[in-house]
Amino acid sequence: MLSQLLSFGGRLLGRGKLSILIYHQVLAEFDPMRPTEPTAAAFEWQMQLLARYFTPLSLTEAVEHLKNNTLPANAVCVTFDDGYLNNLTVAQPILAKYNIPATVYVATAFSQGNNMWNDRIIDLCGDPKRTELNTTQGTTMLHDWPSRLAAAQQLLKQLKYLPVAERLQAVDQLYQLNNATEYAAKMMTPIQVQQLAATGVTIGAHTHNHPILKSLDAKAQQQEILQSKTLLEQLLQQKIEHFAYPNGVAGRDFDEIAVNWVQQAGFTSAVVTDWGYSTASTPLLKLKRFTPWDNQPLKFHLRLLKNYLP
Ligand SMILES: [Zn+2]
Repeated sequence: MLSQLLSFGGRLLGRGKLSILIYHQVLAEFDPMRPTEPTAAAFEWQMQLLARYFTPLSLTEAVEHLKNNTLPANAVCVTFDDGYLNNLTVAQPILAKYNIPATVYVATAFSQGNNMWNDRIIDLCGDPKRTELNTTQGTTMLHDWPSRLAAAQQLLKQLKYLPVAERLQAVDQLYQLNNATEYAAKMMTPIQVQQLAATGVTIGAHTHNHPILKSLDAKAQQQEILQSKTLLEQLLQQKIEHFAYPNGVAGRDFDEIAVNWVQQAGFTSAVVTDWGYSTASTPLLKLKRFTPWDNQPLKFHLRLLKNYLP
Protein backbone atom coordinates (compact mmCIF):
# COMPACT_ATOMS: atom_id res chain seq x y z
CA MET A 1 0.00 0.00 0.00
CA LEU A 2 2.70 2.45 1.03
CA SER A 3 4.74 1.36 -1.93
CA GLN A 4 1.80 1.97 -4.26
CA LEU A 5 1.40 5.44 -2.82
CA LEU A 6 5.10 6.03 -3.32
CA SER A 7 4.82 4.73 -6.85
CA PHE A 8 1.99 7.16 -7.62
CA GLY A 9 3.81 10.07 -5.96
CA GLY A 10 6.95 9.11 -7.77
CA ARG A 11 5.23 9.22 -11.12
CA LEU A 12 4.21 12.81 -10.45
CA LEU A 13 7.62 13.84 -9.16
CA GLY A 14 9.56 11.87 -11.69
CA ARG A 15 8.31 13.49 -14.89
CA GLY A 16 11.06 14.51 -17.28
CA LYS A 17 13.76 13.39 -14.88
CA LEU A 18 16.34 10.65 -15.16
CA SER A 19 18.09 9.01 -12.22
CA ILE A 20 21.27 7.09 -13.05
CA LEU A 21 22.38 4.65 -10.36
CA ILE A 22 26.09 3.93 -9.79
CA TYR A 23 27.25 0.51 -8.73
CA HIS A 24 30.75 -0.93 -8.65
CA GLN A 25 30.59 -4.50 -7.42
CA VAL A 26 27.79 -6.89 -6.59
CA LEU A 27 29.23 -9.40 -4.14
CA ALA A 28 28.24 -13.06 -4.10
CA GLU A 29 28.44 -12.83 -0.29
CA PHE A 30 28.91 -10.03 2.25
CA ASP A 31 32.54 -8.88 2.53
CA PRO A 32 33.43 -7.16 5.84
CA MET A 33 36.17 -5.21 4.03
CA ARG A 34 33.63 -3.87 1.53
CA PRO A 35 30.59 -3.29 3.74
CA THR A 36 28.95 -0.77 1.40
CA GLU A 37 29.01 -2.98 -1.71
CA PRO A 38 25.65 -4.70 -2.21
CA THR A 39 25.38 -8.47 -1.99
CA ALA A 40 23.54 -10.49 -4.62
CA ALA A 41 20.54 -10.67 -2.28
CA ALA A 42 20.42 -6.89 -1.81
CA PHE A 43 20.95 -6.23 -5.50
CA GLU A 44 18.10 -8.60 -6.28
CA TRP A 45 15.50 -6.73 -4.21
CA GLN A 46 16.84 -3.44 -5.56
CA MET A 47 16.32 -4.59 -9.16
CA GLN A 48 12.92 -6.03 -8.30
CA LEU A 49 11.94 -2.65 -6.86
CA LEU A 50 13.20 -0.80 -9.95
CA ALA A 51 11.30 -3.15 -12.25
CA ARG A 52 8.11 -2.70 -10.25
CA TYR A 53 8.00 1.01 -9.46
CA PHE A 54 10.37 2.71 -11.90
CA THR A 55 11.01 2.75 -15.63
CA PRO A 56 14.42 1.20 -16.31
CA LEU A 57 15.94 2.33 -19.62
CA SER A 58 19.19 1.60 -21.39
CA LEU A 59 21.51 4.59 -21.38
CA THR A 60 21.17 4.85 -25.16
CA GLU A 61 17.35 5.01 -24.85
CA ALA A 62 17.59 7.50 -22.00
CA VAL A 63 19.91 9.77 -23.98
CA GLU A 64 17.47 9.73 -26.93
CA HIS A 65 14.62 10.64 -24.58
CA LEU A 66 16.68 13.45 -23.03
CA LYS A 67 17.47 14.83 -26.49
CA ASN A 68 13.80 14.75 -27.51
CA ASN A 69 12.45 15.67 -24.08
CA THR A 70 10.30 12.52 -24.08
CA LEU A 71 11.48 10.81 -20.88
CA PRO A 72 8.88 8.53 -19.32
CA ALA A 73 8.11 9.14 -15.62
CA ASN A 74 10.49 7.60 -13.07
CA ALA A 75 13.12 6.92 -15.69
CA VAL A 76 16.14 5.15 -14.27
CA CYS A 77 19.41 3.75 -15.65
CA VAL A 78 21.65 1.21 -13.92
CA THR A 79 25.40 1.67 -14.36
CA PHE A 80 28.52 -0.04 -13.01
CA ASP A 81 32.00 1.47 -12.90
CA ASP A 82 35.39 -0.12 -13.48
CA GLY A 83 34.62 -3.56 -14.99
CA TYR A 84 34.43 -6.02 -12.11
CA LEU A 85 34.08 -9.72 -12.93
CA ASN A 86 31.13 -10.01 -10.54
CA ASN A 87 29.19 -7.68 -12.86
CA LEU A 88 29.16 -10.65 -15.26
CA THR A 89 28.91 -13.51 -12.79
CA VAL A 90 26.63 -12.07 -10.09
CA ALA A 91 24.85 -8.94 -11.35
CA GLN A 92 24.07 -9.87 -14.95
CA PRO A 93 21.85 -12.89 -14.17
CA ILE A 94 19.81 -10.72 -11.78
CA LEU A 95 19.54 -7.91 -14.34
CA ALA A 96 18.35 -10.45 -16.91
CA LYS A 97 15.80 -11.92 -14.50
CA TYR A 98 14.14 -8.51 -14.05
CA ASN A 99 14.77 -7.42 -17.63
CA ILE A 100 16.77 -4.35 -16.57
CA PRO A 101 19.17 -2.80 -19.09
CA ALA A 102 22.56 -1.76 -17.72
CA THR A 103 25.83 -0.12 -18.71
CA VAL A 104 29.25 -1.21 -17.44
CA TYR A 105 32.10 1.32 -17.78
CA VAL A 106 35.37 -0.54 -18.23
CA ALA A 107 38.82 0.86 -17.33
CA THR A 108 40.72 -1.11 -19.97
CA ALA A 109 44.12 -1.44 -18.25
CA PHE A 110 42.66 -3.65 -15.54
CA SER A 111 41.32 -6.28 -17.92
CA GLN A 112 44.86 -7.59 -18.17
CA GLY A 113 44.49 -9.38 -14.85
CA ASN A 114 45.62 -6.54 -12.59
CA ASN A 115 43.49 -5.49 -9.69
CA MET A 116 42.77 -1.82 -9.11
CA TRP A 117 45.07 -0.12 -6.62
CA ASN A 118 42.28 0.36 -4.09
CA ASP A 119 41.35 -3.34 -4.18
CA ARG A 120 45.01 -4.29 -3.80
CA ILE A 121 45.13 -2.26 -0.58
CA ILE A 122 41.79 -3.57 0.72
CA ASP A 123 42.75 -7.20 -0.01
CA LEU A 124 46.12 -6.78 1.71
CA CYS A 125 44.59 -5.25 4.86
CA GLY A 126 41.74 -7.78 4.86
CA ASP A 127 43.95 -10.85 4.47
CA PRO A 128 43.05 -12.91 7.57
CA LYS A 129 46.51 -14.51 7.55
CA ARG A 130 48.11 -11.13 8.30
CA THR A 131 48.22 -9.72 11.82
CA GLU A 132 50.29 -6.66 11.02
CA LEU A 133 50.83 -4.26 8.18
CA ASN A 134 54.21 -2.69 7.41
CA THR A 135 54.18 0.74 5.80
CA THR A 136 56.94 3.27 5.15
CA GLN A 137 55.70 4.98 8.32
CA GLY A 138 55.89 1.94 10.59
CA THR A 139 53.86 -1.11 11.55
CA THR A 140 50.11 -1.21 12.21
CA MET A 141 48.41 -4.10 13.99
CA LEU A 142 45.61 -5.79 12.08
CA HIS A 143 43.14 -7.63 14.28
CA ASP A 144 39.34 -7.20 13.96
CA TRP A 145 37.54 -5.98 10.84
CA PRO A 146 37.24 -2.35 12.01
CA SER A 147 41.02 -2.14 12.53
CA ARG A 148 41.62 -3.67 9.10
CA LEU A 149 39.13 -1.34 7.46
CA ALA A 150 40.65 1.68 9.20
CA ALA A 151 44.14 0.72 8.02
CA ALA A 152 42.88 0.37 4.45
CA GLN A 153 40.92 3.64 4.57
CA GLN A 154 43.95 5.54 5.77
CA LEU A 155 46.14 4.21 2.97
CA LEU A 156 43.45 4.87 0.36
CA LYS A 157 43.14 8.45 1.53
CA GLN A 158 46.92 8.98 1.43
CA LEU A 159 47.35 7.60 -2.07
CA LYS A 160 44.16 8.62 -3.89
CA TYR A 161 45.38 11.90 -5.36
CA LEU A 162 48.95 10.86 -6.17
CA PRO A 163 49.85 10.72 -9.88
CA VAL A 164 49.07 7.23 -11.28
CA ALA A 165 52.70 6.09 -11.58
CA GLU A 166 53.60 7.19 -8.05
CA ARG A 167 50.45 5.61 -6.67
CA LEU A 168 51.19 2.27 -8.32
CA GLN A 169 54.76 2.45 -7.07
CA ALA A 170 53.53 3.10 -3.54
CA VAL A 171 51.21 0.06 -3.70
CA ASP A 172 54.01 -2.12 -5.15
CA GLN A 173 56.26 -0.95 -2.31
CA LEU A 174 53.56 -1.79 0.23
CA TYR A 175 53.33 -5.32 -1.19
CA GLN A 176 57.13 -5.68 -0.99
CA LEU A 177 57.23 -4.43 2.61
CA ASN A 178 54.64 -7.06 3.51
CA ASN A 179 56.03 -9.87 1.40
CA ALA A 180 52.69 -10.08 -0.38
CA THR A 181 51.81 -11.62 -3.72
CA GLU A 182 48.83 -10.46 -5.76
CA TYR A 183 45.35 -11.58 -4.71
CA ALA A 184 42.81 -13.22 -7.04
CA ALA A 185 41.92 -11.17 -10.14
CA LYS A 186 38.73 -9.19 -9.66
CA MET A 187 38.32 -7.54 -13.05
CA MET A 188 36.89 -8.92 -16.29
CA THR A 189 39.33 -10.15 -18.91
CA PRO A 190 38.70 -8.99 -22.50
CA ILE A 191 36.87 -12.27 -23.22
CA GLN A 192 34.64 -11.73 -20.20
CA VAL A 193 33.90 -8.18 -21.37
CA GLN A 194 32.83 -9.72 -24.70
CA GLN A 195 30.64 -12.22 -22.87
CA LEU A 196 28.98 -9.46 -20.89
CA ALA A 197 28.37 -7.42 -24.05
CA ALA A 198 26.86 -10.52 -25.70
CA THR A 199 24.19 -10.67 -22.97
CA GLY A 200 23.02 -7.22 -24.05
CA VAL A 201 24.73 -5.16 -21.36
CA THR A 202 26.09 -1.91 -22.82
CA ILE A 203 29.84 -1.43 -22.43
CA GLY A 204 31.11 2.10 -21.87
CA ALA A 205 34.63 3.51 -21.50
CA HIS A 206 36.20 4.66 -18.23
CA THR A 207 39.77 5.64 -19.38
CA HIS A 208 42.63 3.15 -19.59
CA ASN A 209 44.40 3.53 -16.21
CA HIS A 210 41.65 5.21 -14.20
CA PRO A 211 43.63 8.38 -13.38
CA ILE A 212 42.16 11.49 -11.82
CA LEU A 213 41.95 13.23 -15.21
CA LYS A 214 42.45 16.71 -13.79
CA SER A 215 45.87 15.69 -12.46
CA LEU A 216 47.07 14.99 -16.03
CA ASP A 217 48.08 17.45 -18.75
CA ALA A 218 45.67 17.90 -21.66
CA LYS A 219 47.51 15.53 -23.99
CA ALA A 220 47.63 12.71 -21.42
CA GLN A 221 43.92 13.18 -20.72
CA GLN A 222 43.14 12.76 -24.41
CA GLN A 223 45.31 9.65 -24.53
CA GLU A 224 43.55 8.03 -21.55
CA ILE A 225 40.08 8.79 -22.93
CA LEU A 226 40.81 7.66 -26.50
CA GLN A 227 42.76 4.56 -25.55
CA SER A 228 39.90 3.01 -23.60
CA LYS A 229 37.43 3.82 -26.40
CA THR A 230 39.65 2.39 -29.13
CA LEU A 231 40.51 -0.79 -27.23
CA LEU A 232 36.86 -1.51 -26.44
CA GLU A 233 35.77 -0.79 -30.02
CA GLN A 234 38.39 -3.21 -31.34
CA LEU A 235 37.37 -5.83 -28.80
CA LEU A 236 33.62 -5.56 -29.32
CA GLN A 237 33.51 -4.47 -32.97
CA GLN A 238 30.96 -1.79 -32.16
CA LYS A 239 30.91 1.91 -31.44
CA ILE A 240 31.44 2.80 -27.76
CA GLU A 241 29.02 5.65 -27.08
CA HIS A 242 29.17 6.21 -23.34
CA PHE A 243 31.89 7.38 -20.97
CA ALA A 244 32.30 7.73 -17.20
CA TYR A 245 34.87 10.12 -15.68
CA PRO A 246 37.08 8.28 -13.11
CA ASN A 247 36.16 9.35 -9.59
CA GLY A 248 33.83 11.69 -11.40
CA VAL A 249 33.31 14.82 -9.29
CA ALA A 250 33.00 17.75 -11.73
CA GLY A 251 35.58 20.45 -11.06
CA ARG A 252 37.55 18.36 -8.57
CA ASP A 253 38.37 15.22 -10.59
CA PHE A 254 37.96 16.55 -14.13
CA ASP A 255 37.24 19.84 -15.83
CA GLU A 256 36.25 21.23 -19.24
CA ILE A 257 39.49 19.99 -20.81
CA ALA A 258 38.35 16.41 -20.29
CA VAL A 259 34.78 17.23 -21.36
CA ASN A 260 36.16 18.60 -24.65
CA TRP A 261 38.23 15.49 -25.32
CA VAL A 262 35.22 13.30 -24.53
CA GLN A 263 33.20 15.28 -27.06
CA GLN A 264 35.94 15.15 -29.69
CA ALA A 265 36.31 11.40 -29.17
CA GLY A 266 32.68 11.11 -30.33
CA PHE A 267 30.96 9.94 -27.14
CA THR A 268 27.23 10.69 -27.01
CA SER A 269 27.02 10.69 -23.21
CA ALA A 270 29.26 10.93 -20.18
CA VAL A 271 28.40 10.51 -16.53
CA VAL A 272 29.77 12.22 -13.42
CA THR A 273 29.44 11.19 -9.77
CA ASP A 274 27.78 14.41 -8.63
CA TRP A 275 24.42 13.52 -7.16
CA GLY A 276 21.07 14.44 -8.62
CA TYR A 277 18.88 13.77 -11.64
CA SER A 278 19.24 14.83 -15.25
CA THR A 279 16.69 16.56 -17.47
CA ALA A 280 16.56 17.68 -21.10
CA SER A 281 18.64 20.72 -20.08
CA THR A 282 21.48 18.76 -18.43
CA PRO A 283 24.58 18.59 -20.68
CA LEU A 284 24.76 15.03 -22.11
CA LEU A 285 28.46 14.93 -21.30
CA LYS A 286 27.79 15.68 -17.61
CA LEU A 287 24.86 13.45 -16.67
CA LYS A 288 24.42 13.17 -12.91
CA ARG A 289 24.41 9.97 -10.91
CA PHE A 290 23.40 8.68 -7.54
CA THR A 291 24.56 5.84 -5.25
CA PRO A 292 21.81 3.99 -3.40
CA TRP A 293 23.38 2.29 -0.39
CA ASP A 294 20.35 1.51 1.77
CA ASN A 295 19.97 -1.97 3.16
CA GLN A 296 16.17 -1.84 3.38
CA PRO A 297 13.77 -1.67 0.44
CA LEU A 298 11.62 1.15 1.81
CA LYS A 299 14.62 3.38 2.58
CA PHE A 300 16.07 2.61 -0.84
CA HIS A 301 12.75 3.46 -2.46
CA LEU A 302 12.40 6.73 -0.52
CA ARG A 303 15.96 7.79 -1.21
CA LEU A 304 15.53 7.07 -4.87
CA LEU A 305 12.31 9.07 -4.96
CA LYS A 306 14.06 11.88 -3.11
CA ASN A 307 16.57 11.98 -5.93
CA TYR A 308 13.76 13.20 -8.24
CA LEU A 309 12.96 16.15 -5.95
CA PRO A 310 14.07 19.54 -7.23
ZN1 LIG B 1 35.95 4.03 -11.48
